Amino acid sequence: MKILVINAGSSSLKYQLFDMENEAVMAKGLCERIGINGSVLTHKPTGSEPVKYVEDMPDHVAAIKLVFKALTASNGGVIKDMSEINAVGHRVLHGGDKFSESIVIDEKVKAAIRECIPLGPLHNPANLMGIEACEKIMPDVPQVAVFDTAFHQTMPPKAYMYAIPYEYYEKYKIRRYGFHGTSHRFISARTLELLGHPENARVITCHLGNGSSIAAIKDGKCVDTSMGLTPLEGLPMGTRSGSIDPAIVGIISENEKLSAAEVVSILNKQSGVLAISGVSSDFRDIEDAVAKGNERAKLALEMFEYEIVKYVGSYIAALGGLDALVFAGGIGENGPETRESIVNQLHTFGLKIDAEKNKARGKEVDITGEGSSAKIFIVPTNEELMIARDTKNLIAAR
Ligand code: ADP
Repeated sequence: MKILVINAGSSSLKYQLFDMENEAVMAKGLCERIGINGSVLTHKPTGSEPVKYVEDMPDHVAAIKLVFKALTASNGGVIKDMSEINAVGHRVLHGGDKFSESIVIDEKVKAAIRECIPLGPLHNPANLMGIEACEKIMPDVPQVAVFDTAFHQTMPPKAYMYAIPYEYYEKYKIRRYGFHGTSHRFISARTLELLGHPENARVITCHLGNGSSIAAIKDGKCVDTSMGLTPLEGLPMGTRSGSIDPAIVGIISENEKLSAAEVVSILNKQSGVLAISGVSSDFRDIEDAVAKGNERAKLALEMFEYEIVKYVGSYIAALGGLDALVFAGGIGENGPETRESIVNQLHTFGLKIDAEKNKARGKEVDITGEGSSAKIFIVPTNEELMIARDTKNLIAAR
């Protein structure tokens, strides 16, 4: 079975084609500047050189058509014909409280994704464009939606409600939803395998990348997570502030003569470790700057780690203990110093890291130190594979 996984943004579209016989990626690629001058597709067949297509992509339909051209081309193609694709799995950002798992797409599902646009105003419309483009080009191929929010739907009300007037929850569905759910689900499922499926396992998953979030997971179900109504809440991130005093929005708005929406945009795009370090949103640049003695870069890194330590500590309390702490995402998988510093700051809980094993980058490793109170793992995340697996399972069950 061959499954195409699509992550459609407003002007970009990422794809991966999986052969589900062995869960291997046959090819992946990225369309950029869709609907903008100078659009380009970079196609990477596994094991051979990337191929670039500098061709007009006025909309997502054109982008998907070009993806098919790349997938079937004599130069860099990996399939003979698009009829070889059995199903398409789409990443969808916001499923609100309507979706607690992945689902085969039909008109009702599309309508529900549309109803969630106020909650994900940038992403959901783009995700829908990707879905509709595929429907147009391959009307007989089943499509599946996999939601970033779905895994977190098991949170109890005490974790997902905000203490603001109740009518805002009723009228606008303002509550915590959480994101990176597909990643937290992938990491926690693998962690449970590594632990040997004990009963009521208490796991904390740290997805640390450009965007970062932490989840508390009991018996495979999410009970709390750091991101909120939107992916802005929680940890300080590459360019996002994470949690701040909400009164700050009003004060900046008044002093800088900016609308609330403009301030929120600053909190999303011009804040986080980028703003504190003044160097970059990329943690590699920040680590380089720290090595050269840059004090603000050091502060940015310290703030990032400190918030992670606070979340993990509070989630150990929420879970009533801990069986495994897991690191994933660009920094979680590739940042030994950050991992070591975080675990050392959690010593009061008896967590100990193995400094030698922790030197690993980008692969699954048990980095638990001798005498540690809980297991500590690096588990590389793979959201695309999870989407492909969900798609395969839903199609097979039809
Ligand atoms: P996204 O959230 O966009 O999926 P990733 O999970 O790929 O992002 O994470 C990107 C982040 O991971 C960047 O800040 C990058 O600097 C960081 N990262 C990647 N490799 C390394 C590394 N070797 N050392 C430290 N940080 C790294």
